Amino acid sequence: MVFIMSFKIIKKIPEPDEIKQEYPVPESLTQKKKEIDKEVADVISGNSDKFLVIIGPCSADNEDAVLDYTERLAKVNEKVKDKLLIIPRVYTNKPRTTGTGYKGMLHQPDPEKESDLLSGLIAIRNMHLHVMENTGFCTADEMLYPENAWYLDDILSYVAVGARSVENQQHRLVASGFDVPVGMKNPTSGDFSVMLNSVVAAQSEQSFMYRNFEVETPGNPLTHTILRGAVNKHGQNLPNYHYEDIIRLFKMYADRDLANPAVIIDANHSNSAKQYKEQIRIVKEILHSKKNSEDIDKLVKGVMIESYIEPGCQKVGNGVYGQSITDPCLGWEDSEKLLLKMAEEV
Ligand code: PEP
Ligand code: MN
Repeated sequence: MVFIMSFKIIKKIPEPDEIKQEYPVPESLTQKKKEIDKEVADVISGNSDKFLVIIGPCSADNEDAVLDYTERLAKVNEKVKDKLLIIPRVYTNKPRTTGTGYKGMLHQPDPEKESDLLSGLIAIRNMHLHVMENTGFCTADEMLYPENAWYLDDILSYVAVGARSVENQQHRLVASGFDVPVGMKNPTSGDFSVMLNSVVAAQSEQSFMYRNFEVETPGNPLTHTILRGAVNKHGQNLPNYHYEDIIRLFKMYADRDLANPAVIIDANHSNSAKQYKEQIRIVKEILHSKKNSEDIDKLVKGVMIESYIEPGCQKVGNGVYGQSITDPCLGWEDSEKLLLKMAEEV
């Protein structure tokens, strides 16, 4: 094989169809996914008043802890499901600010061992499937590598495009072919027009090259926005979850001809300045803003919360079960309390 770059080929990764055949979604879950997809679509399009809560660890680094966490969520769900639509965050591809460090289970099925991408691909598919089997939830993940989306598209009910990817054409084009909601985050610079341009692109019909194919997509009308706060030129965090920020987004939506105006507020990242406990106050502020403005009430369809079993975060190798090895997360007790409070307030 002639190769013009200094890549060393490690192995050939099986095609998405091969992996899907080997690790299929059971028939009963395919039906369940259709029902959940419809519920999520109904929230984004305004046909349902349920409040979407995308909640879970920053990175799903360990299947046992993720199953333990999502089983706890499933129990709380029984109490809140009339008001909240919970989608667990099972994030297996992690964008890193400097491109170094733990990049998620896709790269490292065991965070303390070397990178092994084929094992990682199988591990993430199995983890998502096991969450579905054990809890009845369908899951959310970030589309960090668009060419890998076909390995999970029969599983995910919600997909996010991260702050570092949202300006990228391939992410936007691939989002236009999903049949589930795709949330476009504001870029780290905070520019709302970059985020809205990406919604325009993903809601449009597209034709492009994807893996080994020339493809066409119909456009995804469920593509919407996610506010995650920004970072200014001095490296300071600038939150964008306040009343005035959301009104500004509402007006920018009004100037554009987009289907299903909708925003999810990410309570962590630059909105909390990663002070993970602040997520409680931020979510409460969102619910308060919804009560004070009909426009905000209509636009804000849900929140994203980083939450795990143990609060905070730790370094890889420290060994605390159920504690994040990437961004600091709300612990289980606080998360459960917050979910119950949200169900009372919405
Ligand atoms: C995340 O959701 O963990 C994440 C990395 O988000 P962002 O793209 O907003 O930084
Ligand atoms: Mn995070």
